[in-house]
Amino acid sequence: MSISNQKPSTIAVWAGEENPLAFGAAQVPIVQSAPFAYDDMDEWAAAALGQAPGYIYSRNTNPTVGVFEEKCRILEGGEKAIAFASGMAAISDTLLTHLSPGDRIVSIKDTYGGTSRIFLDLLPRFGIEVDLVETSDGEAIEAAIGKGCKLVYLETPTNPTLKIIDLKRAIAAARQQGAITVVDNTFATPINQKPLAIGADMVLHSATKYLGGHDDAMGGVLIGRQDLVQAVYEHREICGAVLSAFSAYLLLRGMKTLDLRVRKQNETGLAVAQFLKGHPRVESVFYPGLETHDKHDIAKTQMAGFGGMLSFSIDGDFDALKKFVGHLHYVHRAASLGSVNTLIGPPSVTSHVECSAEQRAALGISETLLRYSCGVEDAEDLITQLDEALAAL
Ligand code: PLP
Repeated sequence: MSISNQKPSTIAVWAGEENPLAFGAAQVPIVQSAPFAYDDMDEWAAAALGQAPGYIYSRNTNPTVGVFEEKCRILEGGEKAIAFASGMAAISDTLLTHLSPGDRIVSIKDTYGGTSRIFLDLLPRFGIEVDLVETSDGEAIEAAIGKGCKLVYLETPTNPTLKIIDLKRAIAAARQQGAITVVDNTFATPINQKPLAIGADMVLHSATKYLGGHDDAMGGVLIGRQDLVQAVYEHREICGAVLSAFSAYLLLRGMKTLDLRVRKQNETGLAVAQFLKGHPRVESVFYPGLETHDKHDIAKTQMAGFGGMLSFSIDGDFDALKKFVGHLHYVHRAASLGSVNTLIGPPSVTSHVECSAEQRAALGISETLLRYSCGVEDAEDLITQLDEALAAL
C-alpha cells in the first residue's frame, strides 16, 4: 500500500514517517546535530561519497528536514524535494542554479514583491535578460515564451491581487521551447493545485505560509524533476540556505493539519469574498472563486478549491483604511499569510513593501487595498467583524 496512492489528508499525516521512527517516537524527533559521527572509516567514506545511505553534515542532509522534504515531495507528486531556510532562499537558489549570463527568463509582472526584486535587481546584474509579462494576458505570456527562453517562472494565484494564469497553456508554450517551468504554489497549496501534474518541471513554496500554517517557522521547499532539483541541491549545499531541524519539526507538525485547514479556509474565503462583494463600502474584491473574477473559468479547471486568500479595497482614503483595520479584533495586523489566525495588511507594508508606490500602482495595487488571509476561526464571526468595521467608516 503505497503512501503516494493515499488521499492528501493521509499523506499530510503519514508521508515520510511510515516506518518506525528512532526510539519508537510517535512524532518525528528533532535531530539537533550539525555533523553525524562514524566509528568505521569505510562506512563514513561510503556515506560521504553517496555510495551508501547515511548523514554527514546538516548543510547537506538532516533526518528531521528529510521527513519534511518527503512529505512535500509526495503531496506535490514530484521525484525529489529539498528544503530551504525560507521561501526566498528556495526561489533565489532555484533561479541562480538554472540561469547563467546570456540566458533569458520569462515571468509575470505580479510575482510576490521579493521575487520581483530578484527579477528587477539581482538577475540583470548577472547578465540575465528578464521579460516580465502582463499577468492576466495569456496570449502575451505565450508570445513572450515563444521568443525563446531558458526558464519560465509562474505564480498563480498571485500575491496580493489573486490574478490567475492558465498553467496548461503557459506550460505547453514552455515545453515547445524546451524551457524549464517553475511554479510558486504558495497561495494554492498542493491541496488546491498540482502544477507538476499539469506538466510543470518544478514547484516551490514559502513553507512559512500554508504548509507550516501557524506563523511560527520560516521555511521554503522545492519539488520536481530529479535532475533539476538535484542541481539546486548541489547549489544549496555550497551556498548554505538550509532549513534548521527545529523549523522542520514545526513545519511538519503544522503540515499534519494542512488538508483540514485548507478545506476550511477555502469555505471561509468564498464566504468572506461573497460578503465583501455585496457591501456598498467595498470598491472591489479579488478572489478567484467569485464568478465575477476575470479568470474564474480557468481557476475552476486547475484548482480544487479557491483558497483562503483574498484582497479588497475599501471606499475611502488611507485614513479610512487605518480606521477600518483598527476596528477589527480577532485578526493579526501582520505581514504573513496562510496561518490558523486571520491576518490582514495593506500590500504597501506586506507583500509589496519592497516596491515603490509607482510600481504598486502599475500592478493595480491601490493604497486602500487590503490583503486578507482567512484563518480557521468561524466564518460568521469573521464576517460580523468585517461588517462592524465597515459600518464604523
Ligand atoms: N512566494 C510567495 C507567494 C510569498 O507570498 C512569499 C512571502 O510572502 C514568498 C514567496 C517568500 O517566502 P518567505 O517569506 O518564506 O521567504
